[in-house]
Amino acid sequence: MSKPFKILLADDDVTIRFLMQAALEQAGFEVILASNGEEAIQLFDTSSPDMVMLDVEMPQMNGYQVCTYLRKQIGNELPIIMVTGMDDVQSIDHAFEVGATDFIAKPINWNLINYRLLYLRRAYLNLLDLKNANARSKAIFSAIPDTMFILDNEGHIVDTQSSSDKNALLNFKTGDNLNQYMPVNITQAHLEAATRARKYSTVEHFEYQLNGDNEYQLNGNNNREKYYESRVVAIDSNEILCLVRDITERKDSENRIFRLAYFDSLTGLPNRQSFIDRLKREIKRAKYIGSKLAILFLDLDGFKSINDTMGHNTGDVILQWAADRLQSSTRSSDFVSRSNTTGSEIELARLGGDEFTVVIPNLTRAEDALTLAHRIRETMRRPFRLDSRDVVLTTSIGIALYPDDGEDVDALLKHADTAMYHAKTEGRDNCQFYSVALTQEAEKRLNLENDLRNALKNNEFHLLYQPQFDIEKSCFKSAEALIRWQHPKQGLISPLDFIPLAEENGLIIPIGEWVLRTACSDAAHWLKNGDDLKVAVNLSPLQFKNPDLIKSVLTILAETGLPPEKLTLEVTEGALMEYSENTLTTLRALRSNKIHIALDDFGTGYSSMNYLKRLPINSIKVDQSFVSGLLDDKDSLAIVRSIITLSKNLGFHITAEGIETINQAEILKFLGCETLQGYYFSKPVRKNDILQLSNKSWSINAVNPLDIHYENRGY
Ligand code: C2E
Ligand code: MG
Ligand code: MG
Repeated sequence: MSKPFKILLADDDVTIRFLMQAALEQAGFEVILASNGEEAIQLFDTSSPDMVMLDVEMPQMNGYQVCTYLRKQIGNELPIIMVTGMDDVQSIDHAFEVGATDFIAKPINWNLINYRLLYLRRAYLNLLDLKNANARSKAIFSAIPDTMFILDNEGHIVDTQSSSDKNALLNFKTGDNLNQYMPVNITQAHLEAATRARKYSTVEHFEYQLNGDNEYQLNGNNNREKYYESRVVAIDSNEILCLVRDITERKDSENRIFRLAYFDSLTGLPNRQSFIDRLKREIKRAKYIGSKLAILFLDLDGFKSINDTMGHNTGDVILQWAADRLQSSTRSSDFVSRSNTTGSEIELARLGGDEFTVVIPNLTRAEDALTLAHRIRETMRRPFRLDSRDVVLTTSIGIALYPDDGEDVDALLKHADTAMYHAKTEGRDNCQFYSVALTQEAEKRLNLENDLRNALKNNEFHLLYQPQFDIEKSCFKSAEALIRWQHPKQGLISPLDFIPLAEENGLIIPIGEWVLRTACSDAAHWLKNGDDLKVAVNLSPLQFKNPDLIKSVLTILAETGLPPEKLTLEVTEGALMEYSENTLTTLRALRSNKIHIALDDFGTGYSSMNYLKRLPINSIKVDQSFVSGLLDDKDSLAIVRSIITLSKNLGFHITAEGIETINQAEILKFLGCETLQGYYFSKPVRKNDILQLSNKSWSINAVNPLDIHYENRGY
């Protein structure tokens, strides 16, 4: 049973004392009686009551004085009730001022007084509970290592509480915004977590990192980065409780465990497990975006004998050096800038022993993998200096490609390993693809690419010119410049074989500029000799899109002295395909400088007349594939006929290329074609031979294809 609630009652009126005692004892209270103020204070000290009732008017000390005294001694909580005269507003006010909890007015209603005190007792007990609860939570907060604060919905700090652990010192001031102590995005994260916590009635938590400059450190005074976890709970619709824990130690050990699991302790490189995980991810990604990837399998030649002859410690040192070199030669940025391979990082790993692997994601060309393999080989071949002697280690490398050589980790790894063995049998210090044919092909392309880099410098290019016959004037009015590469070993190489390569590696820009300069200078030379010939120069899409194009064309015209109207630029549909503001701007700029633009190989690409009519070009070149079919195949005839009709309607000049017979020339004249180009007139020739050709006269009749269709079929 709980002990009775004790009330100290002080009143100088004996009747009231006894009536009150009777009423209260009946309600279950224990009552202690005092007849004046002084006695009340004495009894208070000896009996420690739960509540005090004081008459205002008493001898020795009146009720106010007793109340004032008691409040000083015991604080604000214990209920002190003043018994005042009815309607005596002044006494009621005064009672409030001296700290009374409540008042009861005389005359006392003896039927209700006990209820009144029961209510007061309940309020007091609730207050005590609340006080206990507060004390308990304070104790809890000081025991846990978290830092606690309460925020309002704008991020203002309403209350703070830091743990007794002085590591978690918190200098937050109530009323400040959390922004003043933490980066804005972290304050924001707390508020967003609060919204979720409120919505789903959950405890939300998130982790974050604060930098080491101490500006935002919650605790500690060292300058390193620290990790924290915040737990956020909604208190009510206005406030949230945030508990912040320093989790730096946990993070550190997680990192340590991660390093142990995923990194090789000798070289610091990712280990086999890490490589397999990475490869799995890259395969998934490649499958998803439809790209290729390569893995290189590296083995150091003769490493075993180093271990055997010089001991394992030396072997370990050499492996560390080798890892450093590998790392520098596989650094992605260098590689990417030299090839078309872009995107995610190249990753090197140590599989174990003297075996290493490299993953190259987003591979565009097999040669790029070979380039990297060669680079690794070269770097590794340099001697390692060991106690004043040189140790030379070569590397054998096998390459497997996804998806060609395998579609999963096991297959790729196995095939790269097989290729590596092949490289060993080829005499070590060697690279091999899993596909033998690919090794040769990639090697050849790579060599060609290397040679192409030097071709300009070595003056291996020259231009040929193919005359273009003007039907109306019956003579040559222009010539198309066509590039040739005289390779020192392989002889003459067709532009069809090296232009695509130059486009892939960007060399087309300097090569294209050389063509333009040479062609313009040759045409200026013809002009000086009295030959009124225009020159047509092919532009690759890459050149067309080059922002420096206009500047470079105008500079070359100025330097060579060729009037701009003597230059035609031939672009293919590919270059104009994207109907963008840039395309239009470039075309307009060329046109406004009086340079002609011809659409080359018309009919082989997208060939939408609808699209064409919006482009400011001058002429169209009907592709030779239609010309060759003119007599044999009705479709070609129909196509050429409609291309010519439509182009004329749009005001384009029409050239046909690939004319090899007189019949083709005659039909094209009949159909309304204006310029003809092809072997029938002349193959591409050297610049000086063009002058002799331009003196030659030709006569071409217009012939309706229907008239010759049967007689001359199958010439
Ligand atoms: P293209 O611009 O359509 O040039 C016409 C090609 O057809 C030339 O081949 C030419 O020799 C050939 N040809 C001309 N008449 C006849 C004929 O009657 N019958 C047959 N079968 N062929 C004929 P070429 O010189 O081998 O050039 C091939 C392509 O290489 C060119 O096609 C052009 O796209 C590109 N090219 C050539 N020189 C350059 C250049 O300096 N820069 C760029 N970007 N591309 C060039
Ligand atoms: Mg052309
Ligand atoms: Mg063409």
